[in-house]
Amino acid sequence: MSALKVGTASAQPGTVATGTIEVSRLAGGSALEIPVIVINGQKDGPCLWIDGAIHGDEPEGPLMCHILRREVDPAQLSGSLVLVPVINVPAFEAAARGNPLDTFSYDMNRIYPGKPDGYLSERVTYAHSQWMTQVADYELSIHSGGAHSYLSETIFATEDTASQELAKAMGEGWSLVLKSFLPKGNPMASMLEAGKTGITVELGGRSATSPQAFQRVGRVLADAAINVMRHYQMLPGEASYASPRWTGVQQALLAPSSGLFVAEPEADFQKPMQKGDKIATIYDLYGEVQDVLYAPVDGMIFGLRALPNVTVGEWCCFYAEIQGTLS
Ligand SMILES: [Zn+2]
Repeated sequence: MSALKVGTASAQPGTVATGTIEVSRLAGGSALEIPVIVINGQKDGPCLWIDGAIHGDEPEGPLMCHILRREVDPAQLSGSLVLVPVINVPAFEAAARGNPLDTFSYDMNRIYPGKPDGYLSERVTYAHSQWMTQVADYELSIHSGGAHSYLSETIFATEDTASQELAKAMGEGWSLVLKSFLPKGNPMASMLEAGKTGITVELGGRSATSPQAFQRVGRVLADAAINVMRHYQMLPGEASYASPRWTGVQQALLAPSSGLFVAEPEADFQKPMQKGDKIATIYDLYGEVQDVLYAPVDGMIFGLRALPNVTVGEWCCFYAEIQGTLS
């Protein structure tokens, strides 16, 4: 057993260290860096790496990482847990999806593995992906509905055996595993290119940032990570698994018109729907119906807009076309 180093954080076996992955300096002279927490287990085993807030308006990953830092005892851990609560620090500071200082590569989840001499956000993704692909065996990218939507427990994974195993290891409550055919530009894609395993995880968003709802989301995500570590025998205890589990593909339903977005009271997450079932209505400011959203195929809603004002072309509903069950 030896020390595990990520950026400036170096943890001896059985200890926890914090530090940063250094990127660059901003105009005012402050450092642009990525905070990292390294929990190095007492015993040998794989490395689980968790990434939060690649989108700055998604605070669920940071909360999950903080719970795990408090609860995962390195004396009990076989292998290591690397927590990156916030990849995109300037975006997190602005509570915005992307870094306001970089309008050329605003969405950091589209530009992996980045470039050492590229736009600002490309340099952040380059520094992050270099460490991640070197150190990690398994990676979870934590996302949510952000400032505009709420997403229920949903996983995006490729169809290879290792990714499907990681998706299943998330455990009870994680019943929906959507197909990510050719991941490109995100941390999961960088992991796959490096011959390793990563999945994208969605939970939470705008309507779940009240104190109790936010705590619940953080707890559910942390429990899933603990289940993953039990599955790979990194932590003692029995892993549990969801049953049944569904697979399918995402259909993003964009707003056909602008106005006030009002979802049907019966519209619920991960409840089977039939093609043509009503999802939501968009009204103009006089109360006249502009458009009605219907289920495009048999399937289920996994996310809904939670910000009631809507402009044409914005995300309204995250719909899963269900194609079968997983064992
Ligand atoms: Zn996101």
